Amino acid sequence: MSEVERVTMTHGAGGAVMAKFIERFVLPYLGGFEGAEVGLEALDDAAVVNGVVFKSDSHAVKPIFFPGGDIGRLAVAGTVNDIAVLGAEPVALGCGFVLEEGLAFGDLERVLASMKAACLEAGVFVVTGDTKVVEKGSLGGLVVNMSGIGRRGKALDHNLAVVRKFRRGFDARWVLDANLRGGDKVILSGSVADHGLAVLSAQEGLAFGSGIVSDVKPLNHMIGRVLEMGGVVSMKDPTRGGLANALNEWSQKAKVGILVREDKIPIRKDVRAACEMLGIDPLEVGNEGKVIMGVVAEIAEEVLETLLRTEEGRDAEIIGEATGEFDVVAMETVVGGRRILPMPVGDPVPRIC
Ligand code: MG
Repeated sequence: MSEVERVTMTHGAGGAVMAKFIERFVLPYLGGFEGAEVGLEALDDAAVVNGVVFKSDSHAVKPIFFPGGDIGRLAVAGTVNDIAVLGAEPVALGCGFVLEEGLAFGDLERVLASMKAACLEAGVFVVTGDTKVVEKGSLGGLVVNMSGIGRRGKALDHNLAVVRKFRRGFDARWVLDANLRGGDKVILSGSVADHGLAVLSAQEGLAFGSGIVSDVKPLNHMIGRVLEMGGVVSMKDPTRGGLANALNEWSQKAKVGILVREDKIPIRKDVRAACEMLGIDPLEVGNEGKVIMGVVAEIAEEVLETLLRTEEGRDAEIIGEATGEFDVVAMETVVGGRRILPMPVGDPVPRIC
């Protein structure tokens, strides 16, 4: 019996299955526009068209409220962070709501108030949007599409000038995944897997989640501080598929190997324990308030110091470096061996963003 192929939850879970889906369905139909400085084919965190950084992102987290955040905060932070990791300053947002019939106005107001607070935190405003309502079903209350635009600022120009001092021939105009080169250090801004575990605890009503809260946060101010220091070539927020996915995306796009040290990757004790109990790899779990940075080696310590002085980056670590010696992501384990860190099939926790 042959079955018609259909979309599964894994197609939206980041990782290898989603990457294949985009390559097979999205790019052949929607790709091919050559007028973008950074276009769809780059599959970077945002695009650049006519000098404007542009991002669109849908949020379908379930449940809409979870420890440490909610869908409103998530939508603002997710879009702001995808603009900020290109080195741009977020300017304005557009917000499309799909509301489920029966959603309590009290819940909607909680989401809107949280969205407003996150906008004030990031220093951006919602300037356009739309609302639709669908019949009661499985939306879980509401889905939010958040788009945003950003512009280049002085900090980005300074950052790139610092890179050029150390790397001859560097001519990138934005901080892009494909800019990473052998020798660059990889910095992680803080502990991983907090967000996915917090959402999972809310989904399943699991007792382990008592102290675990999402890291969801707009990171544009922290990133701005680092750009003012300078020396960053690549940045990415390790969302769905977690750190393992983000590192593998870098490795594939930049065609370099990456070697990370397991003992340098910050993971909260309770998060690690919960992951062990559930049989989940914390390196494959999504984050919403962390960033990885590829930094020219000569200035990596200064960048780390800058991050450590920020609230959001106080647990930052240099976790490894890019290398020309191989072309995969490898990890030196705590027991001293070395193993390949593959791209995850998909994030082990469904609907985390
Ligand atoms: Mg991203």
